[in-house]
Amino acid sequence: MQSEMETLTPTSLSSPQVAGWIVAVCLAAAWMGLAWMRRRQRAQLLAALQDESCTSEGDSATGLEPLARAAFRRVRAERERHLRLTDRLSEIERVVRATPIAVIALDHLQRVVSANPAAERLLGFDERAARGRLLQDFVRQPALNRAVSSALATAGDSHATGVSGELHLDFEEPLEVQFSCEPLHTDGQPPGLVLSLVDVTRLRRLESMRSEFAANVSHELRTPITNIKGYVETLLQVELDEPAQQRRFLEIIHRNTLRLSGIVEDILTLAFLEEPEARHTLERKSFCAREATTAVAEDLGSAANVRGMRLLIEGDTEAKIFANRPLVEQALANLISNAIKYSSENQPIRVVIATVGPNTRLSVIDRGPGIATKHVARIFERFYRIDKARTRTQGGTGLGLAIVKHIATIHGGRVEVESQIGEGSRFHLILPNHEVSTDGA
Ligand code: ADP
Repeated sequence: MQSEMETLTPTSLSSPQVAGWIVAVCLAAAWMGLAWMRRRQRAQLLAALQDESCTSEGDSATGLEPLARAAFRRVRAERERHLRLTDRLSEIERVVRATPIAVIALDHLQRVVSANPAAERLLGFDERAARGRLLQDFVRQPALNRAVSSALATAGDSHATGVSGELHLDFEEPLEVQFSCEPLHTDGQPPGLVLSLVDVTRLRRLESMRSEFAANVSHELRTPITNIKGYVETLLQVELDEPAQQRRFLEIIHRNTLRLSGIVEDILTLAFLEEPEARHTLERKSFCAREATTAVAEDLGSAANVRGMRLLIEGDTEAKIFANRPLVEQALANLISNAIKYSSENQPIRVVIATVGPNTRLSVIDRGPGIATKHVARIFERFYRIDKARTRTQGGTGLGLAIVKHIATIHGGRVEVESQIGEGSRFHLILPNHEVSTDGA
């Protein structure tokens, strides 16, 4: 109860959402108000017509023709006003129906008076079936129901300003919503409510991903920075007679500097790949898959040699890839250098090229430790590592596979992995071999 009360404050709202709500609430209130006015107009019109007929009857008897004409003019003016109101009402109805904000009008007993399609979608009900029924009968969300009750309890208060806040809705797919309840005054009835709900689930998820990413980046940067700082300070403060020791310190600083720049470069690459325009502005052309693989294998040859590994390129020599070649080489390099890093020494690493329908598949196959199923789904996440301490000392940034995945996706391709503990891993980079539209990719 305590935590819920804390959420019932307007402070958690961002100004565009508040503005959106105000518009939604005003529209809904206007919608209800106009419906009421329409009914009233109709009644007045009927009354006026009755007046007119009375007056007309009187005309013949009394000769009060000007009075009859005036009454007729009034009736016509009323009818025009009524038509204008009807037009305005249907205009507002269309706007309320089209708004992505869920809007529900409730009477003083929490019965649904009306709801727009966004509300039907968000809370999963049918408006026609719901009309006249209690909200809590078909939306069983205790937090929301309590918020509505507490808003209704104060709706009659002349100083009532409404209740708003953020709620967690416990559906099969949980939702985070910002809600607002505003009193709804209708003729001769105790006040009801206009309840509006904005789905902020995606926004909250993005926010938490962003702060998680920032925390991870800081954590990754901290170690090399601390090392560099420590060794530089030692070099400055302590007179080192031994040139060998001095050199060792400088080597440590150098290694940490490389690590820092590796992390920064990977972050920048990811940022570039995540830009929405990247996929449109990327320069793509057709190139030979084997040539690109050979170039990467040459670059990584010395790292493989150090560990006594052979890089073998096999398969389709004619296969083409239609993509940005430097990015494909980078993705392939990430996969091959992982195979080098994580396999035991003296094991061969194979890159097998195959044409599979409209795609070319580059499979990097190692005989390393393999990856347990529970990790397979997560290794493409940023900074996800199976053995954190070990992979960090092996120089990994934890971003390599995230980059591979982005590079594949941006070209309309994909990356897949097959792995078994003790048997090794097969990473498949699948890319189009001819020009394709990547708009929907
Ligand atoms: P890192 O920079 O740590 O290598 P990656 O994103 O490239 O980050 O890989 C994520 C994690 O997946 C690694 O930390 C490692 O635990 C695991 N991994 C990647 N490739 C392989 C492989 N070929 N064999 C075994 N584990 C691997």
